Amino acid sequence: MVNEHTPLTVALAQLDLAAKKLHLDHGIHKILSHPKRSIMVSIDIRMDDCSVGVFNGIRVQHWDVKGPFKGGIRYYPNITVDEVTALAMLMTWKCAIADIPYGGAKGGVCCDTKKMSRGELERLTRRYVSLIADYLGPQRDIPAPDMYTDAQTMAWIMDTYSQLKGYSIPECVTGKPVDIGGSEGRTEATGRGVVHCIKKAAEATGLKLMNATVAIQGFGNVGYHAAQAIHDVGGKVVAVSDSTGGIYCQNGLNPPQVLAHKEKTGSVQNFKGCTNITNEELLEAECDILIPAALENQIKRKNANKIKARMIAEAANGPTTPEADRILHEKGAYLIPDILANCGGVTVSYFEWVQNLTREHWPLEEVNRKLESKMTQAFDDVYKLSQEEKSDMRTAALMLGVGRVAHSIRTRGLWP
Ligand code: NAD
Repeated sequence: MVNEHTPLTVALAQLDLAAKKLHLDHGIHKILSHPKRSIMVSIDIRMDDCSVGVFNGIRVQHWDVKGPFKGGIRYYPNITVDEVTALAMLMTWKCAIADIPYGGAKGGVCCDTKKMSRGELERLTRRYVSLIADYLGPQRDIPAPDMYTDAQTMAWIMDTYSQLKGYSIPECVTGKPVDIGGSEGRTEATGRGVVHCIKKAAEATGLKLMNATVAIQGFGNVGYHAAQAIHDVGGKVVAVSDSTGGIYCQNGLNPPQVLAHKEKTGSVQNFKGCTNITNEELLEAECDILIPAALENQIKRKNANKIKARMIAEAANGPTTPEADRILHEKGAYLIPDILANCGGVTVSYFEWVQNLTREHWPLEEVNRKLESKMTQAFDDVYKLSQEEKSDMRTAALMLGVGRVAHSIRTRGLWP
């Protein structure tokens, strides 16, 4: 039986499922089960108190048959190579579903950003980049933000890589601030993309979005912008949470006001007019749509039956275990899988890279229009396959992503 708490066993079980459904050649299945390259580094830096800090850094490059490796960098305590490998694998399928010319990668540094100063984070980022720089580059591997990294982190990455090469190379990383080559709309892209998928799924299932109630776990980059985007289309955000806990308000929350409160107090909790709830209670809250936008393995066998939402849009990577998936499917919940729901982030990262390579800067309206068109196409492709195969959306998404990558491997062939 699959150990439902290991992201890599989950990712491999998903690959096995897709391989079986696609009658995938055994050799290609074997190739895709392993990352092409895993890099582990020790990042030594001077801490503010003059002591030396040593942090573990990881970069896993899964497969690059369609183009350079692409994937976020996560700063989080206790990150493992297994977890980063699973996330890199998901990136490979995600880029194929979004139909953008990239392979999958992911990076991680074991650290607690809440306990580090800005100077320590800058030194950590620059040292990490210098240690893996030989394997990065605009045609090789292009990092992006993920949990507890942001546009400022990407600016340090761009500067360090450019300093090492001797000239400015904005296209070496995406998710940068706009004034140094970042794209309009990149920060909001993942959350907005999730809501484009929700709109399409609502059409397919007959769910009315006006006044639909929504609970969101995680109120960071993705969670906040998903909240704002769903609010903009008339949905009612009734619950949100962060690492400190959550809040519930039947009448609906105003996302910018909750953000201002979080910025002031460090937590979404104790927001006026709301009841404080735990993260577990948030997942089980009375609502039409649930958006997990924090960590992996949040919806598991033990709580899947208690989830009341009719629709689940996986903004986070890997928030649902395979057993929970089965339970939700049997309950009749409609699940939009991570590799489809959150591909808006990498899509606008691709737009940023294209703008950097051509030294162009597109207006926000153009970025948003192109994002919506890409998300709609990705949703339609997965939906069509799910109808043809009479399968759930996750199986269809995996079949589409794995199938496209396998096809490219067959076309290119194995060398030598
Ligand atoms: P972030 O660091 O901006 O926000 C993370 C949020 O999760 C914060 O609100 C934090 O308080 C909350 N959180 C942390 N631990 C928690 C816990 N134990 N319980 C509940 N909440 C907790 O990160 P992000 O960029 O918004 O990423 C969130 C998820 O979305 C991750 O799974 C990430 O891989 C995925 N994702 C991000 C992007 C992107 O463009 N940033 C793209 C695709 C997928």
